[in-house]
Amino acid sequence: MARTYKPVDFLNLDELLSKESKVLVKEIRRALHRLDARTVFSDAFKNNRFPIEIVAELAKMDLFGMTLPARYGGMDASYENYGVTCRELEAVDSGLRSFVSVQNSLVMYPIFNCGSEEQKMTYLPKLAKPGLEGGIIGCFGLTEPNHGSDPGSMETRAKRIKKGEQFPGSKDIAPTDGYILNGVKRWITNASIADLSVVWAKQEYDNDKVGGFILLKGDSGLKQVDMENKLSLCASSTGELYMDNTFVPEERRMPETQGLKSALQCLNKARYGIAWGGVGVAMDCFDEAKQYAESRIQFGRPLSHNQLIQDSLVEMFTNITRNQSYVYHLSQMMDSGQSKHVHISMGKLVCLDDALNAAITARDMMGANGITLDYSPIRHMANLQSVITYEGTRNMHKLILGEYLTGQPAFRG
Ligand SMILES: Cc1cc2nc3c(=O)[nH]c(=O)nc-3n(C[C@H](O)[C@H](O)[C@H](O)COP(=O)(O)OP(=O)(O)OC[C@H]3O[C@@H](n4cnc5c(N)ncnc54)[C@H](O)[C@@H]3O)c2cc1C
Repeated sequence: MARTYKPVDFLNLDELLSKESKVLVKEIRRALHRLDARTVFSDAFKNNRFPIEIVAELAKMDLFGMTLPARYGGMDASYENYGVTCRELEAVDSGLRSFVSVQNSLVMYPIFNCGSEEQKMTYLPKLAKPGLEGGIIGCFGLTEPNHGSDPGSMETRAKRIKKGEQFPGSKDIAPTDGYILNGVKRWITNASIADLSVVWAKQEYDNDKVGGFILLKGDSGLKQVDMENKLSLCASSTGELYMDNTFVPEERRMPETQGLKSALQCLNKARYGIAWGGVGVAMDCFDEAKQYAESRIQFGRPLSHNQLIQDSLVEMFTNITRNQSYVYHLSQMMDSGQSKHVHISMGKLVCLDDALNAAITARDMMGANGITLDYSPIRHMANLQSVITYEGTRNMHKLILGEYLTGQPAFRG
């Protein structure tokens, strides 16, 4: 059993949370402790595997489709509820929060936002219960081998095809009206384990406007492959989607998609949860470092008695407190419909920079012991390299904020 996690809350901000959020925090902490999630994720990280057995437990806690209406299997939850959930999960491991973010913000939200009523009724209740009977896992395919920060340049293409027409360059015949997709999506969380993939492609029949499609495991020409050699987010499944004349029937194109903007709207929801998650990581690193410094004796006294060690603790603690205030306020703006993408960008930027600094500082305070997986900071430090990269890199969020300040988009020369 891992150490008992003692989260800090200097300004008593959790007292300001709604009754539902308070219950959620308590229940999630209790469940993660019961499941010994810190040990499970540390072992999973070492073995480079996503501990898929935890998914059913998360579904039992109703952590999927949280902010969606109950008629689609959602929880009608607030963004504050979603935020504290991400904080608690990421305090264990970014891989755990990533799974929940992808399913909520990148799979269920686009179907809710861009899908037909039939698509919502068909897929959302199943996506709300992954790991349980009839439940399914999803993934979000936007990034490609040659296009990450600049998804507008994507190469994946969708062609329209009529029932009975031949697929391009093959003898296969379209069974109904639909679309043929060709392309590769890379760095996709849950790609190899997904039953359903939300894939973004340029629609040749609509001036290359980006459209959203629902692909299902077993679709013709669809290969879902795991990626190896990751040294970050090792307890998360990352892979590729290969589409070679993949046929998607008409009823699986999401009709309300409004170009690339629709994909970016999903990223915004995910980034909001990631900002909260960064706070969770920093809280865990601080807790680990403080407990260690209080028990490790050097020069005849605990490390925590030294001014320089206290300086490190105070810096972490101050940044955590500042960021707890930021994400709490951001959640109130989200719930009252006042937040803009720039508020979320600043949250992701600052909370993750500070989380990474906390992980590095905490690791350093543990000396050699800190380089082992017996303690969480080095695992968090490695994970954060991915979290800082996905959903917009640091540079992208600086460019977004730079454009806000100056009115000048500096993404291209
Ligand atoms: C573990 C993991 C999981 C992921 N999961 C998903 C997923 O589920 N779905 C999905 O679609 N994608 C996913 N991604 C992909 C992720 O979103 C991309 O990696 C990210 O958008 C960055 O793209 P890139 O890696 O191609 O880097 P690039 O875009 O090539 O950027 C490389 C570097 O150049 C910088 N840069 C680029 N353009 C500029 C510019 N104009 N000015 C200044 N600097 C610039 C970037 O900030 C970065 O530092 C995942 C990535 C990882 C690591």
